[in-house]
Amino acid sequence: MADMSLNKTPITEQPPQERICNFKEVTLGYTADEAMKEAGRCLNCKNKPCTTGCPVNVRIPDFIAKVAEGKFEEAYDIIKSTNALPAVCGRVCPQENQCEGKCVRGIKGEPVGIGRLERFCADYMMDKQKQTVKPVSNGHKVAVVGSGPSSLTAAGDLAKLGYEVTVYEAFHTAGGVLMYGIPEFRLPKEIVRKEIKALEDLGVKIMTNMVIGKVLSVDELIEMGNEAVFIGSGAGLPRFMGIEGESLIGVYSANEYLTRINLMKAYKDGYETPILQSESVAVVGGGNVAMDSARSAKRMGAKNVYIVYRRSMDELPARKEEVHHAMQEGIEFKVLNNPVRIIGDENDRVKSIEVVSMELGEPDESGRRSPVEIKGSEHTIDVDTVIMAIGTSPNPLIKKTTPGLETNKRGCLVVDEANATTKDGVYAGGDAVTGAATVILAMGAGKKAAAEIDKYIKSK
Ligand code: FAD
Ligand code: SF4
Repeated sequence: MADMSLNKTPITEQPPQERICNFKEVTLGYTADEAMKEAGRCLNCKNKPCTTGCPVNVRIPDFIAKVAEGKFEEAYDIIKSTNALPAVCGRVCPQENQCEGKCVRGIKGEPVGIGRLERFCADYMMDKQKQTVKPVSNGHKVAVVGSGPSSLTAAGDLAKLGYEVTVYEAFHTAGGVLMYGIPEFRLPKEIVRKEIKALEDLGVKIMTNMVIGKVLSVDELIEMGNEAVFIGSGAGLPRFMGIEGESLIGVYSANEYLTRINLMKAYKDGYETPILQSESVAVVGGGNVAMDSARSAKRMGAKNVYIVYRRSMDELPARKEEVHHAMQEGIEFKVLNNPVRIIGDENDRVKSIEVVSMELGEPDESGRRSPVEIKGSEHTIDVDTVIMAIGTSPNPLIKKTTPGLETNKRGCLVVDEANATTKDGVYAGGDAVTGAATVILAMGAGKKAAAEIDKYIKSK
């Protein structure tokens, strides 16, 4: 008989006043007893609606049933058979829009904490990793560009099929946004490193400091004997609003701000990465990137941190948990406000940001009510730092240096339903194709592309 509690089993978190002074993980995860209790809430539904919300097809009720029985290793094996990065997904997937959004327990009460259970299994097994058996090589080589979740998934699936896979990453560290974007307090980097190590144990070779399009071209990768190439180069090119004052000292793109902190460790003693010691920060945007920037700024010592977002709280695209945590940490939400210009002082340093109040009008093509300016409502907010977190697009370098590779008007690589690009033998997936999206969608694309690359090479 299932546990019929309406709410999820609570999870332990670092108290807000403590955690804003450190970069340690906020949510501490279930104990074995808590995990078994939460798993007991699953109804093991006959038609498994939760699984339809998972782009990598995790057999959700099957793994949860194992957790309920205390068979954690078996639960982990079920997850791992389709998901290469469970410790990551358990922490950062927008479960409320995916598996948990479809869970029938959510109709009356809270859905089963599928993400928390996935995280529990992955963490439980983290230090008990079994010896990986390296698959026998099938003699075929594939190159993978980038090392974010799409590429890591494609590389892992291909390696399991016996391919000799080499990943080429532009940065000095592998992991993509998981390493340079999402902060330590949400996704400890040690976890990402361990997931990557598991792929290396499968035989995946990772080469860092390799900017494809500069050090080597896609055509050269093919000339080197790779029979297919997967491009998972993400969408790392920041967008700005095009308003006055964006070149003032103290204006960052979220990408630059978070990279300085996460990848270049500006938050740690002993690292020389420069970063402004801000007093008051405006973060423009309402997604996960905006929440991460705001919460990082708070931890870097800023007294006042504002989220400036042109729609209302109901439309914030960030994961619910991140918004909740940001509010607990004292981030102030200045919703229904849109920046008009950034004002500087005599030394060209940011002094304030001028915003105009908005109201919600008719729904736009995305179905969300579109914001409309309230005339004459301009006002300023005193800040010394502005972080732009209004979206990113794919870097044009690979397209520019690869004849035959087409992109759409947003600069995203054009692919067919098999994730094949317009160039023979070249596949792509993740943010490079969709524009900025989610980890799990990038992983789903990497998985699909790996299966298609296998078919392509076998059919040659
Ligand atoms: P990326 O992770 O962007 O990886 C691309 C990699 O390719 C990078 O390492 C890059 O250096 C490399 N590269 C680029 N060009 C080249 C080149 N020419 N040669 C070699 N290498 C190259 N999603 C969620 O689901 N949940 C979240 O909570 C969440 N939070 C986020 C927070 C932040 C701050 C950001 C920025 C994104 C967040 N996302 C979140 C989105 C998610 O991280 C991305 O959708 C996902 O990482 C995309 O994966 P990817 O493999 O396509 O690309
Ligand atoms: Fe369990 Fe919810 Fe999936 Fe039903 S929908 S099987 S209750 S996780």
